[in-house]
Amino acid sequence: MSSRVEVGVLGATGTVGQQFVRLLANHPWFDATWLAGSERSAGRTYADAANWKLSTPMPEAAAARVVQTPVPGVGPKLVFSALDANVAGDLERAFAEAGHLVVSNARNHRMDPLVPLLIPEINPDHLQLLQQQHAAYGWKGGIVTNSNCSTMFLAMALAPLRAFGLTKCNVVTLQAVSGAGYPGVPSLDILGNIVPFIGGEEEKLEIEPQKILGRLAADHVEPHPVIVSAHTTRVPVIDGHSEMISVDFDRTVDAADIRAAFDAFRGLPQDLGLPFAPARPLVYLEAENRPQPRLDVERDNGMAVFLGRLRPCPVLQHKFVALGHNTVRGAAGAALLNAELMQAQGLL
Ligand code: NAP
Repeated sequence: MSSRVEVGVLGATGTVGQQFVRLLANHPWFDATWLAGSERSAGRTYADAANWKLSTPMPEAAAARVVQTPVPGVGPKLVFSALDANVAGDLERAFAEAGHLVVSNARNHRMDPLVPLLIPEINPDHLQLLQQQHAAYGWKGGIVTNSNCSTMFLAMALAPLRAFGLTKCNVVTLQAVSGAGYPGVPSLDILGNIVPFIGGEEEKLEIEPQKILGRLAADHVEPHPVIVSAHTTRVPVIDGHSEMISVDFDRTVDAADIRAAFDAFRGLPQDLGLPFAPARPLVYLEAENRPQPRLDVERDNGMAVFLGRLRPCPVLQHKFVALGHNTVRGAAGAALLNAELMQAQGLL
């Protein structure tokens, strides 16, 4: 890259916002020069406003910055959004109208037919929807989203299985508490416990994969026909969502072919050598008791999806386990990879 790109972060003080600040601190292309929060934080230094919860020290440059009020038209053209979903819908739209390119984690615009629900290894061509966005909505900027964190790991695992006529999927998630933001789930609700309900999560897992895995037509995405049934649970794990996945196909498929497809899976980020691209998007672990959140979730900078335990399923055809880092590959790291792809394609 010949020149560095200034970027901003909306919701920089929250759980995902802190991951943005950490990951951007040494980014080879991007400089985080503008950090925004709510009225609670605006006007205070980041060190004072952010209740820093990561195990690495707060980056010095970020610590000294004054947290800004999120005013559309102010701040860099490229803004990452880690905004609470209660405010993300209107604020992100206002930023797009004002000329910003918003690369968002929030759910609000994901299923808009003209907003790319982007996973660069799977559907980089969906970025072409940005042109339709400009034309239809008249925005000077645009919005690109990444998926729900659990959807991310499911979609990554399912992507290479489309070639075998993927028809059905059952998924049970065991989701970390950091997925609920801060302070999130009260300790008395989660310690020594499992909560078998996460509001809105199953619906996202059941509709987002079809758009991600779908085919780009002229001005919309034709959804992939896979039917997904999801159970989502919150478990006493800090970082890392585990998923127990069963899959079925329109033909009989050998486990060896599935395994080979997992191992061979690569995408445009790997071809382009994007800074945040994991060498292998899917990493299959051979040990029968892996992947595990505590042992595996930080590997490969939290950007790969870890798989294991591929075996026959007596109900559908095959079953396996997936694990991913919810605030990195499932959130801030995913958005960074999206922006890197946009930069590599000249869209910034
Ligand atoms: P969080 O910890 O609650 O942080 C929310 C952020 O939004 C804070 O920075 C907060 O600023 C800001 N905010 C709240 N109200 C605002 C307002 N009126 N104006 C401006 N800023 C406001 O939440 P999170 O877990 O980081 O999640 C952020 C987004 O990412 C959500 O949409 C979530 O669904 C999505 N997401 C989260 C994960 C995950 O694993 N946690 C994964 C994927 C996607 P103050 O601190 O200044 O109040």
